[in-house]
This record gives sequence, C-alpha cells and structure tokens, in this order.
Amino acid sequence: MNERVRLTPEAIDRLTANTEPWLSCDDCFEQLDVIIDGLTRSNLPLPDAFRVHLMTCPACDEEARSLAALVGAVIR
Ligand SMILES: [Zn+2]
Repeated sequence: MNERVRLTPEAIDRLTANTEPWLSCDDCFEQLDVIIDGLTRSNLPLPDAFRVHLMTCPACDEEARSLAALVGAVIR
C-alpha cells in the first residue's frame, strides 16, 4: 500500500524553490537581455532570482533559452 505521491527531485525543487528571491515575469523579461548579454560577454552566472524564476516558470525558461541560443550562450 503506497499512497504517497511520487515526487521527483526536480518536482521537489520546483515546489521548494518558489519562494525567495522573488522575480516576476515582467521583471524577468525586462532583465533577460542584460543577463543573457552578461552570459555571453563575461561568462557571468545567472543571478539567483533569475535562476529560481526560470526553474519555476516554463514560459520564461523557454524565452531565456531561445534568446541564449540566438547569441550562443549556455544557460547552466
Ligand atoms: Zn516567468
């Protein structure tokens, strides 16, 4: 009898990551250009707020990845 819901590590990450630091989709889109630019020019890491938002927001994640692909950046 196993009535527990199965949670993958990724699902747990998504649930627990959705707290701080908070970034709205608008903020995310606003900063996307600058952050991707930072990735390509100076190899900067993703800011925490940004990374958390992408983990919890498939729409922005896809946007960020397609933008990164355009300029040859890698989102880690
Ligand atoms: Zn978003």
